[in-house]
Amino acid sequence: MGEPVAFRCVSCGREYEPWSLDYTCPRCGPRAGTLEVLYDYRILGRRLTPTSFAETRRSSLWRYEELLPVGVEHAVPLRAGWTPVYSCPTLARELGLSGLWIKDDALNPTASYKDRATAVAVAAARKLGRGAMAAASTGNAATSLAGFCASAGIPCHIFVPRTAPKPKVAQLIAFGALVFAVDGTYDQAFDLCSQASAHFGWYDRSAAVNPMNVEGKKTGALELWEQLEGELPQYVLVPVGDGSVISGIAKGFSELVKVGLAEASPKVYGVQAAGAAAIAHAFRRFRRGEAILPADEPADTVADSIKVGRPRDVVKAVRYVAESGGGFVTVTDEEIVAAGQDLPRRVGVFAEPAAAAAYAGLLALLRDGTIPEGATAAVFITGSGLKDPEGVLRGLPDPTVIPPELSAVERVLSQ
Ligand SMILES: *Cc1c(COP(=O)(O)O)cnc(C)c1O
Ligand SMILES: [Zn+2]
Repeated sequence: MGEPVAFRCVSCGREYEPWSLDYTCPRCGPRAGTLEVLYDYRILGRRLTPTSFAETRRSSLWRYEELLPVGVEHAVPLRAGWTPVYSCPTLARELGLSGLWIKDDALNPTASYKDRATAVAVAAARKLGRGAMAAASTGNAATSLAGFCASAGIPCHIFVPRTAPKPKVAQLIAFGALVFAVDGTYDQAFDLCSQASAHFGWYDRSAAVNPMNVEGKKTGALELWEQLEGELPQYVLVPVGDGSVISGIAKGFSELVKVGLAEASPKVYGVQAAGAAAIAHAFRRFRRGEAILPADEPADTVADSIKVGRPRDVVKAVRYVAESGGGFVTVTDEEIVAAGQDLPRRVGVFAEPAAAAAYAGLLALLRDGTIPEGATAAVFITGSGLKDPEGVLRGLPDPTVIPPELSAVERVLSQ
């Protein structure tokens, strides 16, 4: 296990004893004061070799235990991570890329990237002896926590906006979570969850406030490196809501460089919906030398998983993306829906709108020349289309209804 040496505040830089606090820097508060888990990268660099992870023979994110703050002995049975990466040479050629990979994280146990964070956060709860958990979520983090709490046999309290898509709520109920469907926005559900967790003593897995999330979420980057045998693509595209997934992925690449396993990080690009682009705007301010916070805007998009107006991991996301040499791009709902209908036809991967946004972002960056012809890129597909089929199928006709007769098949084929 990779013993953390400090929990450091991303804003003031103050270092805390590992595990001496659960959430955020008391000086900087819950949004500015998110914590980074630090390790002794020199020691790890001496210990780790390109085959260290494979030698664990684990087909889950626990193969990266050496770079995680919690040991596998605290893991629950449900598996997260070690999802497939698909090479897409035909689509790459059509787009003018020399290589394109799709990392399919819809194939996690509850069908989203969130399972990576939850696996580590629930293991941390077990390590710390916490008996109950909670989360606020646009949907996927909640279903993920509900699944992993079921696997751990601990109670789970969930705060979602009452507008969350039905399939996500169905998962919550199936996993036996206690669900509070908040008559308000995600941002309001988030604040209520923080209050309730403090009041009732639940370990809060909500995005960003819990530093374990980014630790779990970095494993997608480690896997991409390992699955591509150390040949990282030049560009990596990640859909962004609260900014935790992209912070994790960027941290993963940066740690590979710090321990000497990779030469350089890919340029990490965050993709936001044009109607919910608080982090993209904060990034622009940061580039002009202005303050990152308050990043607080109205949010409206078909992509519910990234419909976030008041992102919680905005400081990390902006800093880490800048360090990687990447940036942010916004895409319209029309582009998101079109991408969500195009991707499954071309590569057989069914993505929910938020995940399809990453592919829409790739197309936008190719169009505006940010990603040049002949480059290599990977797209993280963070959630399954089964999570929100209505969102994906928007504007598409229903299948043709026919009588059970061969002539009817002929008629349709000839149309
Ligand atoms: C949560 C989520 C994201 C965005 O992750 P953040 O950490 O909120 O930026 C993207 N896609 C899907 C499917 C998600 O569930
Ligand atoms: Zn601080």
